[in-house]
Parts: sequence; C-alpha cells; structure tokens
Amino acid sequence: MKVKLYNTLTRKKEKLVPIAPGKIGLYTCGPTVYSRAHIGNFRTFLFEDILKRTLESVGYEVYHIMNITDVDDKTIKKANDEGISLKKVTKKYSSEFMEDVAMLKMSPADEYPKATDYINEMIEMIQQLIDNEIAYLSDDGSVFFSIEKYGDYGKLINLDLSGQKHTERVETDEYSKDNPQDFALWKSWKEEDGNIYWDSPWGKGRPGWHMECSVMSTKLLGNHFDIHCGGVDNIFPHHENEIAQTCGALGSQFVNFWMHSEHLVLEDSKMSKSVGNMQNVSELINEGHSPESLRFALTSSHYRSKLSFSNAKLEESKKSVRRINEIYIALSKLADDHSELPNEHDLFMNALCNDLNTPKALGELFNYIRELNRKLDSNSLNSYEAGQGLNFISAADQIFSFIQTDESLPKDIENLVSKRESARKDKNWSLSDEIRDELKSRGWIVEDTPDGSKCYKT
Ligand code: AMP
Ligand code: ZN
Repeated sequence: MKVKLYNTLTRKKEKLVPIAPGKIGLYTCGPTVYSRAHIGNFRTFLFEDILKRTLESVGYEVYHIMNITDVDDKTIKKANDEGISLKKVTKKYSSEFMEDVAMLKMSPADEYPKATDYINEMIEMIQQLIDNEIAYLSDDGSVFFSIEKYGDYGKLINLDLSGQKHTERVETDEYSKDNPQDFALWKSWKEEDGNIYWDSPWGKGRPGWHMECSVMSTKLLGNHFDIHCGGVDNIFPHHENEIAQTCGALGSQFVNFWMHSEHLVLEDSKMSKSVGNMQNVSELINEGHSPESLRFALTSSHYRSKLSFSNAKLEESKKSVRRINEIYIALSKLADDHSELPNEHDLFMNALCNDLNTPKALGELFNYIRELNRKLDSNSLNSYEAGQGLNFISAADQIFSFIQTDESLPKDIENLVSKRESARKDKNWSLSDEIRDELKSRGWIVEDTPDGSKCYKT
C-alpha cells in the first residue's frame, strides 16, 4: 500500500520512499522534563504513535527514537528555582512521562536517549561547525551559529533572508521567526546556572537545545534518515536550526520528511505549561476517563488541524469507544475463525495512508459498524461476516488501541494491589508507597481512580 505524507519542508503531500527498502528511521522530539507533560504534548505524541503504527501495519519496520530533553533553559531554571539538582528534577518528570506513555497504551520507542548522555558528541559537532567556519566563539565563551556564513538558512519556515543586512545574536532556546538571528550552540556558564555545567574546549557551559536533537537523531539513526516529527511550535526555531546545524556540520542529506502536528487548544488558547491551563493524563484518568477514550479524543481529528479539547469531546469519545467495544464483544461470540478481512478495511487503511486521515478512517469503520449492528438487530449476521467484523476491528485496534480488554493481572501483582488497597484504607501511606514502588520495579503502574486502583503494564 502506498503511503503519502505531508512534508513541511516541501509544503506538499509526497509519496513515502524509504531510504532503506522496507525500513523507516523515525525521530520524534520528546518531552522537556521540567514538569509533567500535558495533554497538548500527548496530542503530538499520539499523532506520532498513530504514524508509527500505520507504517508498521503496512509492513514497514520502524526504528523509533524519542529523546528526553533533560537539560535546557527551562529544566535548569526549574532546578535552580527549587534548589534541587537537575538530575532529580529530570528524573522525576521523565518517570512520570513514562507512566503516562504506558497509561495511554503508546507503542514504546526503541530508544529514549537523554541529552545529558550525549554532551561529548555535541561538543564534537560544534567543533565541526567551527572548523567549517559556520560557527564562531563569542567573548564570553559561548559558541554561535552564523546564519550569514551558512547561507542556506530558512528552508523549513520558508524565510527569505535576502534583504537581511546583519544579524544579531540570541541566547535563549526559543525566539520568534520575525527576527532570525545567530543562535547559541554552546552557552557559556552564567551565575544563574549554579552548578550545572560541562567542560568544553571553550570553557564550562552547556549545549543549546537545538544541538541536542541534531546529535541524538544522527547518532542513533544515521546522518540521513526518513522522518522527523514534532508539534508545529517546533518548526521554528528548533527544527530550522537543527537542519542548519546538521547540514552545516556533516555536509550530507539529513531528513527526508518533516512532519508537524497542530496544537491542542483549550477555549481557544494554546495549551502550554507556561500558561498554566494544562491538564495531564493522570488527572484525567483519575477523574474516571478511560485511557481508550482519552486516546480517541486525542487522535480522532486530523493531525494538521487544531484540536479543540473539551469535556464534551471526551464524552463523545467515550460513547464511540463504547460502541466499538460493545460490537467487538458481540462479534467475538459469533465469529468464525476462518474469516478474512472485509473490503472496508482497505478503505480504512487507504484513509490512513493518505497523510494519516484519522477522521476518514474512523468514519469508514463506523459506517461498517452501523451496517453490522443493523444485521445483528435483525439476526441476519452470519458467523463468517461476524469474523470479518472482528478482524477489521482488531486490525484497527492495532493502530488506535480502543479495545478495553480486562487484562487479568498475574496473581502476585493482584496480591500486591489488594495489599496496597488495604494499606490505603488503614491510611498507612508509607506501606502503600512502598508497594507502589515494588509494583513499578516489576513493570506495573498503579493509579488510584474513583473506581478503585487500576494497574497498567509499563
Ligand atoms: P516540550 O515538552 O515543550 O518540548 O513539548 C513536547 C512536544 O509537544 C513537542 O513536539 C511540542 O511541539 C508539542 N506540543 C507542545 N504544546 C502542544 C500543544 N498545545 N498541542 C500539541 N502539541 C504540543
Ligand atoms: Zn527536538
């Protein structure tokens, strides 16, 4: 099946032609671990999850890297504001992120590299840029990328720099596209950085955020790989700078497809950690929403349209998930094992292969379910058709994960969960926490919901 994807770089839908036949290298910008990721972040992470599972469903072997940004302006500020070590801050939010990934039934990445494990490689790439005369050292020991010397800057955002006389410098990780400037590759140590720094040929300091993804992506996927994703706010400056640095240093091709998902918005304002209007996955699950309905709410709109998130949307998603699960159970009782996939499954896959058109794909599935329900109501569904329906829903579930299987817990895990519940009843919080940690070390996450404890496999 042919896959077409919208490429931000060329501003059109293009046929996906893998660099190595049958294989896809996928890099998705991961969380900045200075606070718990919000559902806006998970809109993007789930778009990437659907992309990866669609590619796998059509037969590609996908190698997926998601980085963890564990040093940047925001993480350093958080650590120093709270007077705790950077490691402690980033460890806490990384592990909360992994809990959310498991709760949302996301297909785990093959690797989750941490930026702080790649500082030497970043220093090497910066040195290469200095050697190539595209980067320069400033008086205070910071290293900047010269967009004038590079000469090919602005491709992703479609900037025309021809009228630009001179550029100034910007030190912060994020800035606006109205004012493209030389940006920091290496930031020299400042008093407010406290004890957070690494040694380098230019003195003590730390890498710029953009450098992190240039290095982790190429080290783990090779200099030239297939797809790089993020949310639209990553286009500029993050991905623009990544292209400039990587191509400037390595002189080779970098990424074939750049893909970006639009933002999730609440009441018309972008949801963001700094605005403080965010909700997170565990809050919503603790309020009683199922991971499946949350997934559905976050993936059923097209990834290139803004997603307006509301309680009404969650309620609607809950109903859709219930409809799928009800018919799934009814079909399981009737299904013939020898049935094949119905033709309607092709329509579903065609929609996904056309730039991940999830609303169209789900529309095809619901049309089919409506027809099955009609036949079920009139007792005219035969076992072969029931088997076809079951196959279709199971195949769709490989991509969306909306089937709510009541996974029976292994006996030892079940015992620990009920021991913890008794501890909670007795208000023995330290024992309850101890058991939570024990469950975690065995690969299970326990969440307390209004309906009691729920356990998920990590
Ligand atoms: P961050 O932790 O800020 O680095 O963001 C992680 C990912 O979430 C990035 O790909 C961002 O582009 C994306 N993102 C941030 N805010 C939103 C939002 N409101 N809606 C969708 N994606 C977002
Ligand atoms: Zn990134």
